[in-house]
Amino acid sequence: MDRHQRHEAQIEILVVDDTSTNLSVLTQLLSKEGYKVRVARNGEFALRSAFSSPPNLILLDILMPEMNGYQVCERLKLNPITQDIPIIFLSASDEILDKVTAFGVGGVDYITKPFESIEVLARIENQLRLRSLQQQLQSQNEHLYAEIEKRKAIEASLAQSRSLLSGILNSSLDAIAALEARRNEQQKIIDFRCLLLNPMAYQLLGKSQLQGKSLLRALPGLKLDGLLDEFISVVETSQAIQKEIYYAHDGIEGWFEILLVKLGDGLTVTFRDISKRKQIELALEQANLELSNQANVDGLTQIANRRYFDQYLAEQWQQLKVEQQPLALILADVDYFKLYNDNYGHQAGDRCLIKVAQTLSQQLPTAESLAARYGGEEFGIILPQTSLEQARQVAETIRQVIHQLKLDHAYSQVSSSVTLSLGVSAVIPGDSQSPEQLIAQADRALYQAKEKGRDRLECD
Ligand code: GH3
Ligand code: MG
Ligand code: MG
Repeated sequence: MDRHQRHEAQIEILVVDDTSTNLSVLTQLLSKEGYKVRVARNGEFALRSAFSSPPNLILLDILMPEMNGYQVCERLKLNPITQDIPIIFLSASDEILDKVTAFGVGGVDYITKPFESIEVLARIENQLRLRSLQQQLQSQNEHLYAEIEKRKAIEASLAQSRSLLSGILNSSLDAIAALEARRNEQQKIIDFRCLLLNPMAYQLLGKSQLQGKSLLRALPGLKLDGLLDEFISVVETSQAIQKEIYYAHDGIEGWFEILLVKLGDGLTVTFRDISKRKQIELALEQANLELSNQANVDGLTQIANRRYFDQYLAEQWQQLKVEQQPLALILADVDYFKLYNDNYGHQAGDRCLIKVAQTLSQQLPTAESLAARYGGEEFGIILPQTSLEQARQVAETIRQVIHQLKLDHAYSQVSSSVTLSLGVSAVIPGDSQSPEQLIAQADRALYQAKEKGRDRLECD
């Protein structure tokens, strides 16, 4: 540092000496070199001056009345404001310099009088440089220390969130796995690497250690069900997938609910075993099916009942109205059935109705046709996409097949076996008609068949 720089930097030196000559010589010397100089003639004054505005360096005479230099130095070292100020002792040549005491009380150097200007300046500059290096080191250390503290705090909070996360993962009832995509040279995903699995995942998969390992090697079955493709699509499209799957490979069997969510260049798979729930659901579904079947089936003949007949006729009416295709209907009634019952008994009558119902069901021309018990000993047959002529043929076949059953009916006025009278109607559904009209037409035709002698069919 040259004179100018010192001046700029306002480097301040406190000179403490009880001899005016020394003070003025040193003041002159130091001022000339650019230092800012303050003086004190005794210890008491020096302390007050240093405490109120700490200088950068102190030149301290040892031999002074009342308080000597060592004592002043000790006081300065006790005060945090002044303890780091470098102190250079000044001693007269006739004094015996007690170097041990000088360094012992905290002095950093000493100069013996008479002064050599160059020596004084060199020693001062030396101490100032040392002090400045010390300060730099200290601030670096402080910086380093702050960095270390900051890192410690980050590590602590990381450890905390890590333990929080693993606590959540470990106690989760859902199985959770984090996977990372494994790509080939064309950047196509060919497999996944297991990054992390929670205990529930290990439990459900029945595996022990998968971390870092290939997913496909552990669960090759994923490829068979196309599940791997779904994993890949989640990574490529960022679209999450939630679904229920049945998995029966790799020693695992059951229903699982899975949730796939993209995470980085991979995904998280959350899954749970829903086999028990699924069993209950399937049983419930079956029970519901049976219930609704029961609601639609006639208890005696086990063919569709009147309720389902009405529903199905309405459905077909709507559909064929759109398609503008014909809908045909046959109403069939057992002839002289009261006489049958009266003579053969009600139970025999029931058996006869069951037989007739079964026969009707077997004569249906298409899968869309339906035979139902319309009431008592009367049956209805719905024939979608069937013209009047086609329906007439179906009715004629039925009439003949019933004949061929040869169910004895000695009391029938028309035959020796059970016979049917049938009424046939057909229409292309439109807004001007209704299903009820179709029924009324078939009923009218049936009435005519009865009128004309029974065991026959009529069309309306
Ligand atoms: P028609 O030739 O004019 O049809 O004469 P019918 O005797 O068949 O007609 P009617 O309406 O007089 O009698 C129908 C009989 O059907 C009366 C009833 O006892 C019998 N019936 C109705 N439902 C059942 C049933 O579920 N089981 C039995 N065994 N008989 C039934
Ligand atoms: Mg009847
Ligand atoms: Mg009858």
